[in-house]
Amino acid sequence: MFSMPEFTVNQSEGSLPERINPVQKPVLVVQKYGGTSVGNVDKIKRVAKRVTSEIDEGHRVVVVVSAMGDRTDELVAMAHQINVHPPSREMDVLLSTGEQVSIALLAMAIQRLGYDVISLTGAQSGIHTSDVHKKARIEGIDTTRVERELKHGRIVIVAGFQGVDEAGEITTLGRGGSDTSAVALAAALSADKCEIYTDVDGVFNADPRIVPKAKKLDYVSYQEVLEMASLGAGVLHPRSVELAEKYNLPLVVRSSYNDRKGTLIKNFKTGSNDLKEDIYMEKVLVRGIALDENIAKISILEVPDKPGIAFRLFSALAKENIHVDMIVQNVNRTAVNDISFTVNVDELQEAVAVSQKFSFEVGAQKVEFDQGVAKLSVVGTGIVANAEIASKFFEALFEMGINILTISTSEIKISCLIDKARAKDAMVHIHEKFEL
Ligand code: ASP
Ligand code: MG
Repeated sequence: MFSMPEFTVNQSEGSLPERINPVQKPVLVVQKYGGTSVGNVDKIKRVAKRVTSEIDEGHRVVVVVSAMGDRTDELVAMAHQINVHPPSREMDVLLSTGEQVSIALLAMAIQRLGYDVISLTGAQSGIHTSDVHKKARIEGIDTTRVERELKHGRIVIVAGFQGVDEAGEITTLGRGGSDTSAVALAAALSADKCEIYTDVDGVFNADPRIVPKAKKLDYVSYQEVLEMASLGAGVLHPRSVELAEKYNLPLVVRSSYNDRKGTLIKNFKTGSNDLKEDIYMEKVLVRGIALDENIAKISILEVPDKPGIAFRLFSALAKENIHVDMIVQNVNRTAVNDISFTVNVDELQEAVAVSQKFSFEVGAQKVEFDQGVAKLSVVGTGIVANAEIASKFFEALFEMGINILTISTSEIKISCLIDKARAKDAMVHIHEKFEL
């Protein structure tokens, strides 16, 4: 077997080595380019150059792309102009076309530069998913085809966000799902690197569009970025981070417009060799602030206080695949309770319908909902163990005269439900208060 030497040593006649050139080992790279990075023909040509530069360095590359620019939004809007409740199956047939345009155009751009390349849809790439349309989960990847193409020396361009279920139906992975396609492929192919290219320099400690002083993070742990993503920070598809953590696959989020280093996402263990990174990780408690304005609060009033009630409600919601967050049951001295929870606004209609049916069946008083709320969170490893952080967070809200509707905590985050109209200002103030 041919093995690649890691170093070449140039020796000049009997003296000490003049230079030691580290020669990079060829690796398998999975790169993902988001919608803005392939937003028009010129940008696609630019991506083609970036991809082929990896080939020039001797690496093998699998590229996952999103739909061009706002294409997916446009397709959604068109569907709704035709049918207010478009069937989910047809939505997936429609939405998957966005990525199919990108893969073909990028393959053409790369071919034009003189490289061997092939584009593949999700199904052609062996991406097998569950059968839940519009939010399917990747269940497995048959890498036979992709590996065969790589073996033939081809660059492989894969359509992100899509897969195929057991019945052969096209599925999509939920908005932003291309990140997950990339991470899953990288894990299945045992890739050496997975890079997520976007239009910003990496993961920031707050949304730079809201907090102008937000800073790019050099490092962040899976758990922290997962919380930030789930809490609305919009950096990565949450499922992609879960998968990366599961397979211990380091992720790099970086800009497709420059050569800056980006943000490295991985697990940081004290006592490992990543001394510089570990120290960085230990220094701060609050890593970032996230704001989710895409939520609504549902309250079911005067629910009978007896065992099995919460189980019944939340299993009914789970059956409809509705994601529930921030559950609160107030303590009551009477025989009834109020139960509140938050859902994504996209699922509000369905969640209210399920709640109303439940309310009627158990004899609760009524169901109310409120779209004027937002969830503001501070995120960082070890946050709950530090009482000062919670008090500082609440103090900041008090200073702004903002009332807290609900509080929830986990190991690494504290979230408050507040008035949506004040949320952005609150975010700026908290960013300043924590001196991020
Ligand atoms: N094109 C899809 C979306 O806009 C998937 C993605 O961009 O990751 O949600
Ligand atoms: Mg995206």
